[in-house]
Amino acid sequence: MEKSKGLTIAVDFDGTIVEHEYPKIGKEKPFAVETLRSLQEDGHTLILWTARDGELLDQAVEWCASRGLNFFAVNNNHPKNYLFQGRSDKSCKVIADIYIDDHNLGGLPDWDTIYSMISGMRRKKRSWWKRTFKKRSRKR
Ligand SMILES: [Mg+2]
Repeated sequence: MEKSKGLTIAVDFDGTIVEHEYPKIGKEKPFAVETLRSLQEDGHTLILWTARDGELLDQAVEWCASRGLNFFAVNNNHPKNYLFQGRSDKSCKVIADIYIDDHNLGGLPDWDTIYSMISGMRRKKRSWWKRTFKKRSRKR
């Protein structure tokens, strides 16, 4: 897969990568780190997106790094999203293509399902684009 076609994925920490035991760091959710590393290898960009701050945030970042999981950004945007909808001010929302959070509507799927869903989304996104482009071409 080409790196330039990867998605920007914002991922929560407590309750998502690890069991929710805030402010302590809970046990890893099965296959969370392995799955996130696989997504990076597939060309996706990961942003850690958490309510943790200060020392508690540092502990989470270090917990991930010690397992080989390093993020492109932490509670911050990918540079391509610094300008949002033409506004020059930086958005306070982390902008991503996908958000993975234990407070998702419908709950958090297991990490194997998350990996399958994201892999499928990329294919759907391409086919949606092709379909839309073809429709517009026919109208002209
Ligand atoms: Mg959470």
